Amino acid sequence: MHIHIKNYMEDLVWNYLDVIIAKHPQVCNCEKCRYDIAALALNFLPPHYIVSDKGETYTKVKSLEQQFNVDLISAISQAIRIVTNKPRHEME
Ligand SMILES: [Zn+2]
Repeated sequence: MHIHIKNYMEDLVWNYLDVIIAKHPQVCNCEKCRYDIAALALNFLPPHYIVSDKGETYTKVKSLEQQFNVDLISAISQAIRIVTNKPRHEME
């Protein structure tokens, strides 16, 4: 038995990230920028905690995805714009 609480928004952001980055060829695809984009996008989105145990959550998760689809795309696009204007990868 392994039950834990997770912010499902994190999974959704990672799921959408690659698809949206692919539509923005100017985006740096290095690890640092990808994480910066994901973190920024998550700051724009409300957290959505779920209890993660069995497969039962799948339908819940699908409806969440539909509910937040537009918010996810706009949060990630906004994060991409910010990171592209001011990438932090050069500082380290
Ligand atoms: Zn980069």
